[in-house]
Amino acid sequence: MERFEAVVVGAGPAGAAAALELARSGIQTLVLERGKFAGQKNATGGILYGQTNTRYNLDYLIPDFHTRAPVERAITTYKMHAVSGDKVKTLDLEPLHDHNTKWSYAILRGKFDRWLAAEVHKECKKTGGGLLTDVRVTGPLMEDGKVVGVTTDSIDPIKADLVVAADGATSELVRQAGLRGWGTEEKWFQGVKVVVKMPEAGINERFGLRSDEGAAHLVAGDIFGKARGGGFLYTNRDSLSIGTVFHLDSVTENGRPPHELLDTMLEHRLLRKWLGGYYDEAEYSAKLIPDGKKALLTRPYSGNLVAVGDAAGQMQAAGPIIKGMNHGITAGILAAQAYIEAKKEGKPTAAGPTYAAWLKQTPMAKELKKYRSIGAKVTALQATFGAPFLPFLIKIKPVAKFVEGLMGNYNKALTAPDTRFTYVTLPTLLAKNYGTPVEDAPPLKLRSLDDRIGALKYDTDIGKAHIEMLDDSIAVNGRCVTACPVSSPDSSRGCYRIEKAGGKEFVVLDTQPCVECGTCAVVGKTRWEHPAGGKGVGYEWG
Ligand SMILES: Cc1cc2nc3c(=O)[nH]c(=O)nc-3n(C[C@H](O)[C@H](O)[C@H](O)COP(=O)(O)OP(=O)(O)OC[C@H]3O[C@@H](n4cnc5c(N)ncnc54)[C@H](O)[C@@H]3O)c2cc1C
Ligand code: SF4
Repeated sequence: MERFEAVVVGAGPAGAAAALELARSGIQTLVLERGKFAGQKNATGGILYGQTNTRYNLDYLIPDFHTRAPVERAITTYKMHAVSGDKVKTLDLEPLHDHNTKWSYAILRGKFDRWLAAEVHKECKKTGGGLLTDVRVTGPLMEDGKVVGVTTDSIDPIKADLVVAADGATSELVRQAGLRGWGTEEKWFQGVKVVVKMPEAGINERFGLRSDEGAAHLVAGDIFGKARGGGFLYTNRDSLSIGTVFHLDSVTENGRPPHELLDTMLEHRLLRKWLGGYYDEAEYSAKLIPDGKKALLTRPYSGNLVAVGDAAGQMQAAGPIIKGMNHGITAGILAAQAYIEAKKEGKPTAAGPTYAAWLKQTPMAKELKKYRSIGAKVTALQATFGAPFLPFLIKIKPVAKFVEGLMGNYNKALTAPDTRFTYVTLPTLLAKNYGTPVEDAPPLKLRSLDDRIGALKYDTDIGKAHIEMLDDSIAVNGRCVTACPVSSPDSSRGCYRIEKAGGKEFVVLDTQPCVECGTCAVVGKTRWEHPAGGKGVGYEWG
């Protein structure tokens, strides 16, 4: 049986950071990635942040990364558009964005992860390890009830003194090690996104940018019905990343498929104005995102296994700001350092508790804890007492100004992110009272869900469904039909459908168009795992 000192599962930002730090310290490190190339399975919004309150950002590992990495644009403009009907009130959220921000770049994971993985492979090779793609880890290798390595679906089991579970939100390692189950809907966000191609000069002109500048535009208000969350548009070099992120429980309550909610935003005059009749969609993608306030693992280790990044629920949403990649990087570095320290002291098995103790001291963990203790009460109070009076109070200009200030304040955004009140009520009232109607703009010819699925690239594993429905009744799995980002009651091509036979309605599942987001494992009753190796969906843009 092959043996490496450390095995890192997953070559996303968290796994790459752990592997770089381990290999740099001379630890023989093997990275296993299920995609055919790193990034092939990944999608993000997404802005990669460097924080001033930690030294463990990507530039700690690769100091000149921004001159070499395929980053898209540095974010220099950050605005929130509060929307009600055709009225829009634009708020400057730069203070929120700039809070503890050292640098920030829009990135596309297809390019970025590939570049980062090449750096990882180069470093790991120096210690006799490297990066192996197209290998899916199926679970921890156990001996006498202890994690001693990993099992895979294509190569022999591998032993290791340290296993880093960096396998993302849908982590099989974390579930099988007994650290977390799928949990319930309120522990998750669901992100859905399209990449729209646009020439660099067109972006510069339409968004008023130079090529070395980038913009983040957020959208909230009454356009998404009951869904709590909002939309984003980030400018890349010659494309736009446009998407929505909602609390998963509100997606299922809303009863409107995720792709439809995204289209509602794309069709709004605000976005049509920027797109100006031009719509060249390159890719549709979706993923679950852990809500760190509720999903953060309090014990992110089990024996020799340490969990980092989304696998450990280390995702922080401060109002519309989403920070997952940078926290994964910080945690990856800390996990690696904990192992290096524990080994130096002759107790490599102490890496898990050391990592957990260090993690608790990070600003991320402290801020998420703060939310858990007071945030839920604050938001409940706001919703109960604020909502009835606010329509009258907001008409008083200084009150409206005060509310705007709250929305741009990092600490307030952190403690009040969960309710309909903050995502829908407040922005809607600001737009109604202080917004101006956006002029009409040429309509867009959007892709249908069928066309979106048709444009994705799949390497299908015929006969080996990675999801098995354990109950086909409408009562149990019916909500998957609308919560799955590639299904819809009107579509004939998605994963979940409702069919009728013998006078009875039931749910049917076909995993061929599945984008492996993980949603149905939370909202339905399924046995869920990733497809083998590089099989299944493969993103080009991410
Ligand atoms: C729509 C959307 C918008 C977002 N916006 C932002 C943003 O603006 N800023 C931000 O910081 N974050 C954002 N996030 C969150 C961010 O993308 C995640 O927090 C981040 O990707 C987590 O990194 P990770 O390395 O932990 O996991 P991942 O990036 O998910 O990487 C996990 C890796 O493990 C591999 N893997 C999984 N299972 C296995 C297995 N069994 N065997 C082998 N390999 C495996 C996967 O293929 C993948 O490469 C957004 C997410 C979404 C969906
Ligand atoms: S079938 Fe499940 S995992 Fe696949 S896209 Fe639909 S909800 Fe996501």
